[in-house]
Amino acid sequence: MSSRDSRHGPSGVPRDELEDARRAQLIEVTIDSLAEVGFVGTTLAEIAGRAGVSPGLVAHYFGEKDGLLEAAFRTLARVVAVRMRERFALARTPRARVQALIDANLGPENFDRRTGNAWLAFWGQVLHFEGLKRVQTAYQRRMLSNLRSDLRSLIPGEDARSLAAMIAAMIDGVWLRAALSEWQEADSESARALLTAFVDGRLRELARSSGADGAPTALERGSQPTTDAERTIRVINPATGEELAVLAVDGPTQVNAAVERARLGQKEWRALTGAERGRVLQRAARLLRERNDALAELETRNTGKPIQETRAVDVTSGAECLEYFAGLAAGLAGEHVDLGPKAFGYTRREPLGVVAGIGAWNYPLQIACWKSAPALACGNAMIFKPAELTPLTAIELAGIYREAGLPEGVFQVVQGFAATGRLLTRHPGIRKVSLTGEVGTGKAVMAEAAATLKQVTLELGGKSPLIVFEDAKIDNAVAGALLGNFYSAGEVCSNGTRVFVHRSLHAAFVERLRERTAGLRVGDPLDPLTQVGALISAEHMEKVLGFVARGRAQGARLVTGGVRVTSGELARGCFVAPTVFDYCHDDMDIVRREIFGPVMSVLEFTDEDEVIARANATEFGLAAGVFTNDVTRAHRVIAQLQAGTCWINHYNVTPIELPFGGVKMSGLGRENGHAAIEHYTQLKSVYVAMSDVESPY
Ligand code: NDP
Repeated sequence: MSSRDSRHGPSGVPRDELEDARRAQLIEVTIDSLAEVGFVGTTLAEIAGRAGVSPGLVAHYFGEKDGLLEAAFRTLARVVAVRMRERFALARTPRARVQALIDANLGPENFDRRTGNAWLAFWGQVLHFEGLKRVQTAYQRRMLSNLRSDLRSLIPGEDARSLAAMIAAMIDGVWLRAALSEWQEADSESARALLTAFVDGRLRELARSSGADGAPTALERGSQPTTDAERTIRVINPATGEELAVLAVDGPTQVNAAVERARLGQKEWRALTGAERGRVLQRAARLLRERNDALAELETRNTGKPIQETRAVDVTSGAECLEYFAGLAAGLAGEHVDLGPKAFGYTRREPLGVVAGIGAWNYPLQIACWKSAPALACGNAMIFKPAELTPLTAIELAGIYREAGLPEGVFQVVQGFAATGRLLTRHPGIRKVSLTGEVGTGKAVMAEAAATLKQVTLELGGKSPLIVFEDAKIDNAVAGALLGNFYSAGEVCSNGTRVFVHRSLHAAFVERLRERTAGLRVGDPLDPLTQVGALISAEHMEKVLGFVARGRAQGARLVTGGVRVTSGELARGCFVAPTVFDYCHDDMDIVRREIFGPVMSVLEFTDEDEVIARANATEFGLAAGVFTNDVTRAHRVIAQLQAGTCWINHYNVTPIELPFGGVKMSGLGRENGHAAIEHYTQLKSVYVAMSDVESPY
């Protein structure tokens, strides 16, 4: 027999598959037997007889009867887990996830006589069989932890814990009574209706006792049908192609309702002192830090960014932003204006009201934090729409704010495509829009916002210069260029993608750059050693590879990279090797246009004035960097560069204390720093008379 034959059965089906099929058959027969003759009657001989095989064969697969029963119990538990996962994927709110869990555990399948009787037979034996106990404990733990984590987004932690225990007890109790009454006392539908009414009632009571007024609770929102949601968003992991979730698109009904809830919530929120608001933000920051790793993993799965980045930067940067604005909240103040002995004036710094945030897909959680922290610190309510490619961590942030004590409606997430964004920018009840996105989107948002004279903050694209002078420390400059081009696979708005290098340094610089770029590790984003992960989507990858092809066609020299990476499992995802082009010219497509991928263009220069002129010869003006050891030149050059955010001898570091934003087509307004306060408040001037009114009438 050849080695190939030994792996196949007589029909040509691989042996492993035959064995799996036989095992599955024996497990099904065991469930039949349990349902019909109960636990005691289910013996190896009984099962062998029913399956038409010898007891020895059953023993061969499962050992003793205990092994077979444990395998059968695991199969039943696995079926429930799979149904739960399927339902979770469709649930778009924490309340909907709680419902998904109830529906999966009390679905009609669990009330059919065969499955139900088998469960009942097992339950009676759990305390006596170690193997069954293990399965039962895992099943119970999973149910409790799912319930707790979703309920925590709706109610305070202690309440979530006890309500989770009650729901779990009721699910099991209702089912058990139905089973013991031989399915007379309840069917799946009535059992689920009972649980739903219980959960809704309890959540409503808890919301009331925690001080929420008559506004709909998160629970009520979650259970409202999305009547005009015609479309859904499929959320994909760009590293594997795996579907992570399916979300409903929010339409006019949901957006209008969100604005109304935000209006009500904002009344309550603005009435707090700045210090009180700051405390809520501090608590939310603490929760972000506590959940750093879980949030980082979710962000990595959704964006394809390396876990080594998301663990170190994305969540932390969000938490730092909340902490920074929590600190500023207590100090928000107007000024006193002396108007002589007969009067004085003062200004009040007041919130705008309900504001909207619209995010891009490259830093989903960070963007949601950078927008919401100053908005909330100033007493506004924010409705946030994440990019449709990366909608997941904003939902987590909403849960965290809620858990930290933010009143109902003050931070809400709506999901959707550009149309949902437009509903926000056009809404008369929204006073401001802060967008992070492309230049074209910025123009559209500004035009739409004009109809209701909304304020806008626009954080848009860039094609930023990074200038390396002849006296720069070459290794620092190379490190800066790598940071400014390959972090997040180059999907960073402020990247210094036009790297101008002085002629005297050019050859050495490019050689070190080549070595270090070629050494970057492209791989599974969840692997802590991976340095370059996946691009956001197949469509975006094609766009990036299209630029690479045009770079070559227009005569740039490819130093390294320039290809899609498809080795092993990476073939399932959107990976592009970090790419360096040399001998680029100012008029090439790769030099003029934002690529938003891991593609760096190196350009040579000889003279300071020349490089400043070339660096500024772009419609963009987001960021710029200068590497030089000549302190006078550093400041002289920076002063002439047309960019909102600049670095001297570093690149792409964005401390929250410094305002961030662009000039020219790269945007309007600033995020972070004290400057952000200006964009989320309005001044009221008050004149106070200290004498009688003098009137000519
Ligand atoms: P897009 O401009 O395509 O989308 C940004 C957001 O706006 C998305 O949520 C999008 O919804 C929404 N949107 C699109 N059209 C409209 C509209 N007419 N009205 C209201 N909302 C709308 O940007 P990307 O998501 O592709 O992000 C990449 C861009 O973002 C790059 O240009 C990058 O430079 C820039 N960026 C700028 C930063 C900065 O701070 N300056 C930081 C990070 C990125 P949907 O996606 O659901 O269609």
